[in-house]
Amino acid sequence: MTTHETIEFDVLFVGGGPANLAGAIRLMQLAAEKGRELEVALIDKGAAIGSHAISGAVMNPVAIAELYPDYRQQGFPVEQTVRGDGFFFLTKKRSVKIPLAPRQMHNIGFPIVSLAKVCRWLGEQAEALGINLFPGFDGKKILLADDGITVTGVRTGDKGLDKDGKPKPNFEPGIDLLAKVTVLGEGARGSLMKELAGKLSIRSGRLPELFETGIKEVIQLPENHFFSDCAFNDIHTMGFPLDPDTPGGGFVYEMADNRIALGFLLALGYENPALDLYDTFMRFKRHPMIQNIIRGGKVVEQGARAVSTGGWFSMPHLAVDGALFTGNGAAIHNTPAIKGIHLAIKSGMLAAETIMDALVAGNTGRHTLMGYSRRIEASWAGTELREGRNFAQALAKKGPIKWIHLAAQYISKGKGLVDRLPSADDATTLKPLQPEAQTFSVETEKPVTDDPTMVDKLTGVYLSGTLHREDQPSHLLIHDRRVCVEKCYPNYGCPCTRFCPGDVYEMETRKDGGGINGIKLNFTNCLHCKTCDIKDPFNNITWTCPEGGEGPNYKQA
Ligand code: SF4
Repeated sequence: MTTHETIEFDVLFVGGGPANLAGAIRLMQLAAEKGRELEVALIDKGAAIGSHAISGAVMNPVAIAELYPDYRQQGFPVEQTVRGDGFFFLTKKRSVKIPLAPRQMHNIGFPIVSLAKVCRWLGEQAEALGINLFPGFDGKKILLADDGITVTGVRTGDKGLDKDGKPKPNFEPGIDLLAKVTVLGEGARGSLMKELAGKLSIRSGRLPELFETGIKEVIQLPENHFFSDCAFNDIHTMGFPLDPDTPGGGFVYEMADNRIALGFLLALGYENPALDLYDTFMRFKRHPMIQNIIRGGKVVEQGARAVSTGGWFSMPHLAVDGALFTGNGAAIHNTPAIKGIHLAIKSGMLAAETIMDALVAGNTGRHTLMGYSRRIEASWAGTELREGRNFAQALAKKGPIKWIHLAAQYISKGKGLVDRLPSADDATTLKPLQPEAQTFSVETEKPVTDDPTMVDKLTGVYLSGTLHREDQPSHLLIHDRRVCVEKCYPNYGCPCTRFCPGDVYEMETRKDGGGINGIKLNFTNCLHCKTCDIKDPFNNITWTCPEGGEGPNYKQA
């Protein structure tokens, strides 16, 4: 039997995104104020802090200014400052600038950032405060006390298994990291959060989580580009290439050194199983307005990630005995504003304040840690979250009623016509594939041109820096492969082959043209976006952490 080394800390943060980095920093700030010594650790599955962090991202600076009032002077990485907002409706060939953007999308004065760089900067601050940072370590399993309800820490993943799961000569068993309080901040669809939801009732009485998946690129432009003499440098689009009943949209932000961040988000409650996420992204990029912006450029980085957008009513209960949940992994997101970084930072800070109270009181039980939930509710974060509480659910409605809901919510600051508007789980919304849709429209299958602004899926994977060792068990689990052949292909045409932006899933078609033999898994391409774990209509796919330190290697995203 494998034995696992044990290391104990006061507080363990699992996930090195903005929520947990800010949380760990705030905790050390409080410890210094109170003259307490704390052993604090933070693990992240990426090879380096920030290497799995990707976001738009126009950032509301309110939270970082609370954490570091002089953040700009301290070298916080800002690409550009928003000098004007451009909100556009796209038809197939044209673009119409909407004169009045919704109030939540007024971004003038906000920094445009790279989340990967922001996390690296926060990591440097955390390290300087004495926090033990362990990049390259994934949280593989939740550890519970004998009572079955108290979280005592996490076990990290084994390293050095072969593809059959047998130890290789360099095998290193996972380590049991124990803590008085464990903070899960894994980002959307965290695997430990999912495991915990199966054991403890953290989602009871909550609405289903809703998600969007975004593909984002950083594009290097020549000097004197579109934004050089443009009054706005923060663009959001709606409309083409999606139909009115499918929520999603594009963004383009100016970055430093003649680069732009360009991306497209698709709500995963979509119904058409023929829809291809990457294809949709390519269509967006082929629109004349976008072509005008990216002409002469070169894609230098690409990545993808799901975002939890359901908001207030879809948030889990935020604490259990010995643990609490931060950031987007807990559905903390302002969807009308398309922003979450500031809320993630604030959630981490409020978690830290609650943890310090609990440590001082010597009580890390659920009732003490639920003070975190009350802190969120009483803060500006709670006000924001409540204003967007029915938004993603309204977006998911079809036809004119969607716009009526949205208008009512806008006027009533969130309440709308139905307060706690119900919605369906994203895994349940696909309609059967129509026969005429059997030939999928896949722009990405067009011959790859030598246009460096348009890259195919596999080039995109390469540009994400993604690496996984081949000789290890697949971290993507297809539970019953007969379901793919006998149920998913006939009903939906295996949508995993189209919603996955990494070209991980491939249909093995039969030579007689009468269906498929199975699904081939190219797990080494996986971008860790989690879309398959969310959208698979039979819940037949589970995403688990691969060996720590693998996956994307974002530097500018
Ligand atoms: Fe995303 Fe799943 Fe594809 Fe990986 S396999 S890139 S998590 S959809």
